[in-house]
Amino acid sequence: MTRIVIVGAGPAGIAAADALSAAPVEVTLIDEAARPGGQLYRSPAPGLKLDMSRLLGSSHGAYAAFHDKAAGLCRRLDYRPGTLVWSIHGGAVHLASASGAAALPYDALILATGATDRIMPAPGWTLPGVFTLGGAQALLKDQGVAIGRRVVFCGSSPLLYLAASQYLRMGVKVAAVIDSTPFAAKLRALPDMARAPATLAAGLRAMAELRLGGVPIHQGARIERFEGEERLAAVQCRAGAGQLVRIACDAAAYGHGLRPEAQLAELAGCELRYDPVQRLHLPVIDGDGRAGERLYIAGDGGHIGGGQAASLSGALAAAALLDDLGLPASDVDRAGSRRSLARLRGFPNGIAAAFRWPREQVVALADDTILCRCENIRVGEVRAALRQPMASPDANRIKAVSRCGMGRCQGRFCGPALAELVGAGHAGELDRLRAQAPIKPLPIALAGEAAP
Ligand SMILES: Cc1cc2nc3c(=O)[nH]c(=O)nc-3n(C[C@H](O)[C@H](O)[C@H](O)COP(=O)(O)OP(=O)(O)OC[C@H]3O[C@@H](n4cnc5c(N)ncnc54)[C@H](O)[C@@H]3O)c2cc1C
Repeated sequence: MTRIVIVGAGPAGIAAADALSAAPVEVTLIDEAARPGGQLYRSPAPGLKLDMSRLLGSSHGAYAAFHDKAAGLCRRLDYRPGTLVWSIHGGAVHLASASGAAALPYDALILATGATDRIMPAPGWTLPGVFTLGGAQALLKDQGVAIGRRVVFCGSSPLLYLAASQYLRMGVKVAAVIDSTPFAAKLRALPDMARAPATLAAGLRAMAELRLGGVPIHQGARIERFEGEERLAAVQCRAGAGQLVRIACDAAAYGHGLRPEAQLAELAGCELRYDPVQRLHLPVIDGDGRAGERLYIAGDGGHIGGGQAASLSGALAAAALLDDLGLPASDVDRAGSRRSLARLRGFPNGIAAAFRWPREQVVALADDTILCRCENIRVGEVRAALRQPMASPDANRIKAVSRCGMGRCQGRFCGPALAELVGAGHAGELDRLRAQAPIKPLPIALAGEAAP
């Protein structure tokens, strides 16, 4: 029977699995996480009594409905939790899990790998106590653990407000929200953001909750440094009017929006194109998620668009796959889903404008700021590499010369800032680091076993 592999059991992967569930195909659903849910519907570890309806507020209904559906599907499918896809080559996904390494051949592949935080390096951002925004949220949803007792949420992202409101609801002191985008920029982006009214409403509700809870919100403020000796003690920012503000805290959740996890797509042969609004490279896919020969991409891994867009695109990708295989069509409403998706896809442009990636800050970073935290490479070392005579100082060449992006995260976190540094002074398209396997760290015991 035709074997379909779906990577990712978030909203997109589960919607794809659901649309394939009545088709005469064998579906394997793989996720490195222990439970389905992805980022949006991440659920607590079994046995942990975490009040998810308090944590999620008005979005708890959608969370419960997702988990009802996912539980039924995962029982019926070949569902493999706790399994990392670390490479794709030779028509197979290459897996690593607690039970060892394996290669799983596929006839068609749906990648629903989601997104991850985009981060701007800043002085002190490697101090203990500074977390990515997504990491701070994942700890709360997954383990019921807050990153600190007095937490600052900072950077530039709608998730700042969502995550801060979740912390507040769970009784954690939110010391401040520091958002580098001015309020006026958000107002200008309202028409695009209104294309996803439910997501916009959730963001506005979170902002209102924070204000009612007495949380100071600094908009249009620039992070100057994370301050502390052994660990974080305060965040310093330059507020809108230019004055220096110091906020004492024991933890900070820091992020500048999201970037698609597109490394597997690239290894599977998908082309990437540069998006000048988001200043990111995104997979080239058609309206239904086709990305190459028997390759489909759904959800945030293709277009950052939120949970609703992820579900619609998962179902559409599955329907496209069945059409391409000449198998009986699923009952996905293709025309309706395409219309809704086209509307929702205006949203990321609104978000990119409303919550700007402050690229000018990279160019202004001091030489001693750490850029690549895995290899401990400072901005000055990358600038020195850029001054070396070379035919084309692209990001991959600079990586080879400086080791920036060569560590555990494979440039997933320092890559966007490195690209800005390499591109400083050049107009037009930014460069990017090429994807390389293993895309995420492998346990050393498996590395030998997994070698092709
Ligand atoms: C950190 C973070 C927090 C977010 N919080 C919110 C929020 O509070 N509210 C909101 O509306 N939106 C939030 N979003 C956005 C929202 O999660 C997404 O729009 C939506 O979940 C996208 O669904 P998806 O199925 O495309 O991806 P995801 O939900 O991200 O699911 C992707 C899945 O793929 C798996 N995966 C990825 N790579 C591999 C691999 N190599 N091998 C095996 N498995 C893999 C991951 O473990 C994950 O379970 C958040 C996004 C992120 C990144």
